[in-house]
Amino acid sequence: MEQVLAARFYAPKQPLKLERVPVPEVHDDDVLVDVKAATICHSDLHTIAGRQIPAMAPITLGHEASGIVAARGKNVTNVEVGDRVGVDYVLSCGRCQYCLRGKDNLCDNFTVMSANTEGSWKEKVVVPARHTHKLPANVGFPEGAMLNCAVMTAYHSVKYAQISPGVSVLVYGLGGVGLSLLKWTKIAGASDIIAVDLEDEKLSIARREGATATVNPRDGNPVEQIRKLTGGGVDIGFEVIGKVESERNVISSIRKGGQAVLVGMCWDPVPVNVVNDLQVPEVKIMSPQDHLKAEVPEVLRLIETGRFVFGDAVTHRFPLESANEAVNVLQNRIGNPGRVVLEP
Ligand SMILES: [Zn+2]
Ligand SMILES: [Zn+2]
Repeated sequence: MEQVLAARFYAPKQPLKLERVPVPEVHDDDVLVDVKAATICHSDLHTIAGRQIPAMAPITLGHEASGIVAARGKNVTNVEVGDRVGVDYVLSCGRCQYCLRGKDNLCDNFTVMSANTEGSWKEKVVVPARHTHKLPANVGFPEGAMLNCAVMTAYHSVKYAQISPGVSVLVYGLGGVGLSLLKWTKIAGASDIIAVDLEDEKLSIARREGATATVNPRDGNPVEQIRKLTGGGVDIGFEVIGKVESERNVISSIRKGGQAVLVGMCWDPVPVNVVNDLQVPEVKIMSPQDHLKAEVPEVLRLIETGRFVFGDAVTHRFPLESANEAVNVLQNRIGNPGRVVLEP
């Protein structure tokens, strides 16, 4: 059986092991993808830190990948050998009541690459063909890899929040998802876009990408700064960090009748005063989950037609052998990383 190099997780807070693993059989509905880019996401860091535990260990980490179809099963019709494809890590069953309603992000049999099944930080992956899609010609492999997580999660969040033209929005945290989110709110027609981050460099990128105002919490209480800028708060505030303090700050920055959209992953309880935070100002809290299959072609089309532009989202490139070094760059924010890509 063919063996390929993979970066594997054994236990929290331990370096990944670079080892060779067998390539699984390509079943009738599967494709074998020769991985060209596999990007590193903050949720991979959550796994390495032990905040989320995979269903099995050892397991190959990574859930973002793109590459070239190297083989396909006999039932596969959506992609051909040689196609450049992106891999969708949200593996839904397509048969349960939620999938049938188009809410495949809530699938009863939902699995995620690198949590329940082998991940993408390897030279070749086998995935169900329905979770692959052809990449538009103007999308490179690294962008094609991050597309399914950062870009799709942000897109789903903006659709879920039902942004209408003219609303004011807050994007609190400018990592891969936050920056994508900012771009989508602009495309959706937000009139005022306030971006928050601790790094001034990120804030200047945000201004270039359409933020109408920026706030650095180092300059003083961010909630006061946001309320002052907006005359009482924003219509829709997106939290894209996943820390208790930032969740709290977003909830406190919403104007009466507005909504807080909690996108960042936070495992710690966030204190909410139901009367003061929610009832009296009639503020809604919502928290979107991943993305829908139906949204993938929409995003691909918006990219293909030049409406969504990746810009400088990808900042660092490493060979797969240097997976630990690449993780370290993101963990310790060395060289102001955006997306860090592994190139097997
Ligand atoms: Zn991700
Ligand atoms: Zn399902």
